[in-house]
Amino acid sequence: MLHNLKHLSVFRIGFFGANADQRSNPLRKSMAFRTIASYASGLLKCWRCGNENAAVGIQFKCTKCQSLLELPGDVDHFQLLRVDKRFDIDVKALTNQFRQLQSVLHPDKFSNSSEKEKHLSAEWSSLVNKAYKILLSPIQRAEYMLKAHNVQISEDNTATNTKFLMEMMARNEEVDEAETEMDLIKLLTAVHKDCQICIDQLEILLTSNKLTEAKDQLIILRYLLSLENSIKEKGNRLGINL
Ligand SMILES: [Zn+2]
Repeated sequence: MLHNLKHLSVFRIGFFGANADQRSNPLRKSMAFRTIASYASGLLKCWRCGNENAAVGIQFKCTKCQSLLELPGDVDHFQLLRVDKRFDIDVKALTNQFRQLQSVLHPDKFSNSSEKEKHLSAEWSSLVNKAYKILLSPIQRAEYMLKAHNVQISEDNTATNTKFLMEMMARNEEVDEAETEMDLIKLLTAVHKDCQICIDQLEILLTSNKLTEAKDQLIILRYLLSLENSIKEKGNRLGINL
């Protein structure tokens, strides 16, 4: 499933890359500004030399003694990975940033350092891994963005649209009844198309701060991904590699 989510994310770059109107949306700019502003308040005091590092952006090392700094309490994943805070993330840039950060923060780079710095590098490195995993997945990324706006989504949140639920039931039956590779490919193609539409909708809704609608759309995406999973499981049972 993760592989497919990745595929979908990569697929999106071209589509949104061409959309200059969305990129210049003032809502996005204000979101990015708020994030920077929240980090600009307060100083990070170095545990080793006591230097008070200005907390603009996320700093990993003390500007005076170059020691790895302690983790701030709440780290924004977008800021940590140094990508714009928006749903239609540039996946290639995200992965580049991830690799670059791990090349600096990974515990292997601190094998000759003090125990404290070894410990801090492990903490930073695991935080970077976690943030990368969340931002890479469209569903987790949307959840993360909604949570930042205090919109919680639990596992048992279900769709309330009867027409949609009936359609999903019918599509699940089609998966049960599918017998050939062609049947399954047809179903899978339709799911991928719907996922893409859903992801495009999510982007628009999150950008325009329509959070309730975004939450509904995310729940729909979950159903679609679960359907995708069922199609692949059926393929496995029939010995078909999809
Ligand atoms: Zn220091």
